[in-house]
Amino acid sequence: MKNTYNPIEIETQAQAFWEKHKLFNVIEDNNKKKFYCLSMLPYPSGQLHMGHVRNYTLGDVISHYHRMLGENVLQPMGWDAFGLPAENAAIQHKVPPAKWTYKNIDYMRAQFQRLGFAYDWQREFMTCKPDYYRWEQWFFIQLYKKGLAYKKNSVVNWDPVDQTVLANEQVVDGRGWRSGALVERREIPQWFLKITAYAEELLSELDNLTGWPEQVRTMQRNWIGRSEGLIIPFTQVDAKQPIEIYTTRPDTLMGCTYVALAPEHPIAIEAAKKFPALQSFLTECRHVELAEAAVATNEKKGMDTGLKAIHPITGELLPIWVANFVLMDYGTGAIMSVPASDARDLEFAQKYHLPILEFTSDDTIAETLVQQNNAQRKIQYRLRDWGVSRQRYWGTPIPMINCPHCGPVPVPESDLPVLLPETVEITGSGSPLKNMPEFYNTTCPECHKPATRETDTFDTFVESSWYYARYTCPDQKNKMLDDRANYWLPVDQYIGGIEHAILHLLYARFFHKLLRDAGLVNSNEPFKRLLTQGMVLKDGSKMSKSKGNTVDPQALIDKYGADTVRFFIIFASPPEQSLEWSDAGVEGAHRFLKRLWTWAHDINPVGAQFIAPKNGGILRRQFHEIVSQINYDYERLQFNTVISGCMKLLNILSEKSVTPEFAHEGASILLRLLAPIVPHITHHLWQMLGYEGNVLQAPWPQVDQSALKTDTIELVVQVNGKLRAQIQVPTDATSEQIEKIALENMSIQRTLDGNAPKKIIVVPKRLVNIVV
Ligand SMILES: [Zn+2]
Repeated sequence: MKNTYNPIEIETQAQAFWEKHKLFNVIEDNNKKKFYCLSMLPYPSGQLHMGHVRNYTLGDVISHYHRMLGENVLQPMGWDAFGLPAENAAIQHKVPPAKWTYKNIDYMRAQFQRLGFAYDWQREFMTCKPDYYRWEQWFFIQLYKKGLAYKKNSVVNWDPVDQTVLANEQVVDGRGWRSGALVERREIPQWFLKITAYAEELLSELDNLTGWPEQVRTMQRNWIGRSEGLIIPFTQVDAKQPIEIYTTRPDTLMGCTYVALAPEHPIAIEAAKKFPALQSFLTECRHVELAEAAVATNEKKGMDTGLKAIHPITGELLPIWVANFVLMDYGTGAIMSVPASDARDLEFAQKYHLPILEFTSDDTIAETLVQQNNAQRKIQYRLRDWGVSRQRYWGTPIPMINCPHCGPVPVPESDLPVLLPETVEITGSGSPLKNMPEFYNTTCPECHKPATRETDTFDTFVESSWYYARYTCPDQKNKMLDDRANYWLPVDQYIGGIEHAILHLLYARFFHKLLRDAGLVNSNEPFKRLLTQGMVLKDGSKMSKSKGNTVDPQALIDKYGADTVRFFIIFASPPEQSLEWSDAGVEGAHRFLKRLWTWAHDINPVGAQFIAPKNGGILRRQFHEIVSQINYDYERLQFNTVISGCMKLLNILSEKSVTPEFAHEGASILLRLLAPIVPHITHHLWQMLGYEGNVLQAPWPQVDQSALKTDTIELVVQVNGKLRAQIQVPTDATSEQIEKIALENMSIQRTLDGNAPKKIIVVPKRLVNIVV
């Protein structure tokens, strides 16, 4: 039957039409306003989940809306294809990570296409392919030459049984996730990017990111964590060098009763050489988890070094302790402890019976210390340099060569890319690259003697820090970025989960500034406007596979079609809030689309032109008032109320008194308003009704201002023949509408006092008489 809504059929047809006409492929056009809409690129985990569907539907709605406004819209898609899950899958299923990843990408790409997302697929790339990561390697070498990439020893989680480095997420309750062995801390040389050199700009530019949620800006400010403090030298008894302590509260100096060192502090290590008990304490500290949060909640432990420092003002002798909560990479790795004003210092002092001294804080003391005691003011950030080395296989090879004579030497640019071998066996015990002499044996580019390649790979956050820029020129074979980057950047609208509010966004902002300072882009920030979508919940809890309560988007698409899934996910809640899953909601969405379908088939096709009604009827005024509200809601990204507005429009258009002209005007407007959300059904109905072109290229509907003007006349209202009120009604109001307005009048309601009218007589343009 032709009149039945068959989503699978019309969605296939619409997608074939878009594909044939290359509707979403885009090139630079200086005559149009550009709009770059980007949803965070997915990790190819295997199949789309509801969170993905929500994220990408939001991006798609925004893209369509701006395209219909006449803007030149770029909406690309690609794959964040390196990472640990591929290695874990390889261990479990004995499939090489590359093969597993490509298979997942093929499946998920087909799902995106089935959902009808309007991507410019010409720009698709995978971050695990050399045509992408070679530019990452090239850029790293530029950073190395500028001193913005450097190598230093750093502590990692070490699994002594598997003989491998573990990522933080592979440490479960202090033990290796596979072996169950107690994890140790081990120092190994690693590569770092100097994000701290940009700390001040990363902080101050947040003030200009007015298109970002305030919550995200606050999280970034806290993460960067700027504080102003003082480095104060404390003279040591029987030692030439003073201990430099860092404090943000120099005013509390008079309450200091002991000094505490990080376990890695050189003075602690030196003292331990003559003191076996201290040595074993320092070793014990190595087993503790690294994460800052863990350091804050661990039991406070310490040991006296036996050394003494001299209080710079009072000259009192203060014991020097080692404490497990002092971080070596914050300040100087040494602090002055003030138990009377600091809860943590107090807990420690009580545990180890250290003195607690009441004191009066002194705000000018910092000035005195700077002048008399060689103290130095120092701005400190909580932000640390970014460790980008991973002792893993499935990642971008770090393009460095370790020469026994010359030290670290960059791979010559003409030798890039350093290819990652794709056919390997993953055992879970260390990186396979370390067992591949054909990969790591090479010669030093400087002295031409035998040398070895770096076998570490980059943190996958490196790939996702600049992908947004590469989408502008993915076919560029000779450069990382070209002029097209400056046409499209910054991204006008970025969409992604709140879980990326800190690291990903901070690293991408950092990279953008690095690209700018390398002359590759001319803007300061990568993302102008940011939308952070809420989670998808079921029964009030986050969907998780382990709980078995996932909703498979594919099954829903197969049953109801892509438009219903898109419609439900947009209608169920505002974008920033969490979305509560409901089967009834999905069915409701499907019912609405069926109703729209039936209604559109009931009005007669009129060909390419239709005549808009000239006069402003009351229904038409209500209609355009709602259109005005919907346009406002599109601008502020409140798409759920866009849909409720569209439902009201369909109700109005379904009224008996609607003229054929108004029905067609209304259909043309309603289909365009719904097109960004449900592009397939609107594409079909638009063509069926004979409107010009195709709906996704139609201009955005405008409110007819003349329809909003109200011509009214005054009528008198009588109750049992007695004048009781005067009312304003539209000149073209029907008798039913006039009755309704009269009965809603306050003084009429008072007069009726709850009595039901027996009869209502409307004398057109004169009066209303109510008989009770
Ligand atoms: Zn050399």
